[in-house]
Amino acid sequence: MTAETADSTSAPGPVTLLVAGGDVVTMNPAREVLVGGAVAVAGDVIAAVGSSTELAGRYPEAEVIDATGCVVTPGMVNAHQHLTGDPLIRSCIPDLLPPGASIFEWSVPAHGAHTGDDDELSAVLSSVENLANGVTTVVEAGTVANPHRAAAGMRRAGIRGTMGVWGWDIEEGPFTAPVTETLDRQREVVDSFSGGGLIDGWVTLVGHDLASDELLAGAADLARDLGTGLTMHMSPTSSDPERYLARTGRRPLVHLDALGVLGPHLLVGHGVWLDDSEVELVLSTSTAIAYCPWAYLRLGQGVAGQGRHAEIVERGGRVALGCDASNAGDTSDILRTAALAAGLARDTRVDPERFGAHTAFELATIAGAAAIGMDDRIGSLEPGKQADMVVHDTSSIGWTPRGETVLHLVWGTGGRSVRDVVVAGRLVISDGTCTTVDIADLRVEATAAQQSLLERAGLEIPHRWPHIPSA
Ligand SMILES: [Zn+2]
Repeated sequence: MTAETADSTSAPGPVTLLVAGGDVVTMNPAREVLVGGAVAVAGDVIAAVGSSTELAGRYPEAEVIDATGCVVTPGMVNAHQHLTGDPLIRSCIPDLLPPGASIFEWSVPAHGAHTGDDDELSAVLSSVENLANGVTTVVEAGTVANPHRAAAGMRRAGIRGTMGVWGWDIEEGPFTAPVTETLDRQREVVDSFSGGGLIDGWVTLVGHDLASDELLAGAADLARDLGTGLTMHMSPTSSDPERYLARTGRRPLVHLDALGVLGPHLLVGHGVWLDDSEVELVLSTSTAIAYCPWAYLRLGQGVAGQGRHAEIVERGGRVALGCDASNAGDTSDILRTAALAAGLARDTRVDPERFGAHTAFELATIAGAAAIGMDDRIGSLEPGKQADMVVHDTSSIGWTPRGETVLHLVWGTGGRSVRDVVVAGRLVISDGTCTTVDIADLRVEATAAQQSLLERAGLEIPHRWPHIPSA
């Protein structure tokens, strides 16, 4: 039917699953949408994309997911997600705190009281929420203590992603250590996830001004040596530029460039407060940025006035979307994030002809995959790629009547329309229900764990308005 249909002889094994009858938003180079199309899956790989009739005839033995009337998209990418620390105290940190108070009054004690069980449970919660919103790949932005437990949580949920452990070498803080020791721990974590499968190990620094020059340079060398990614936080507010200017006389990314840290292996979390020279460096070095607009709005960090992300995208830079943390953006709904990214781009320039839904949806899929260095595997529905896909139910009143497919996906809905999710050929959300984790059990476990964590950390849910027992 189209160039998308692969010869069945190229399939890596028997076709076991056919997602048929939906409008398939392939995100292939021509951006073809196959109306009433199908995706055939062999094991964990896409074997063919094409006509439903043709593929059903070719693979009569395959299990069929009937996507008639639905929209089928690639699994989406969330390039900055804190899987631990916040999920158990989600939407607990007040939104009327001065800068820094949320870190020192909440995050530090909560992280300090976290057990390994909490880390795994947090990662299950966050992973399941991401999957339920159609996110099939997450970049972990900073597990502090137990990366292997967090990875176990990702595996229980069945999500794809990266795992790292926070490296820093300042004087005080959990797991801070001298440069050599910090890099050894990074190497060990990356090596432990090098065996293929759904999780890749990444070198992961806290970032900001919480690393020596030696650690920054060493981490970049390590990522290059190991052929993996490096991620760290930088410049969500004016604080990092002020500190770097005071310490080095240079803006943060200018300084990182001088150290040899920038490059295609680096994914900078945030990059909101960049000046012209830093934007040029991001573009000339192919450094990628994870853009988490809900976090900046929730925390009042100045993205509407300062953010250059849309400009970087328009100039060919590498940008992915992220959902950050459960008290910084709070939800893990990348379609809601895509709509916001488009809205901010248009409104801040008062330009209704700029950066529409289609560009935003590219960031959520193929462009986001390219920004995290995985577009050879994920981000589009094409033969040979990993079978990560989402079936969006369009039977609700919010999709009635159907409009233009991508306008409706980005502006007109959100993760709430996600019906089925496949990761590496495995159905992990089916008809809105998680197949990998029992949600009723998870709710009981998470509620108890939250209570216990708050008690150990000496925290209480800070209701501003009187909550009156009235049963
Ligand atoms: Zn973060």
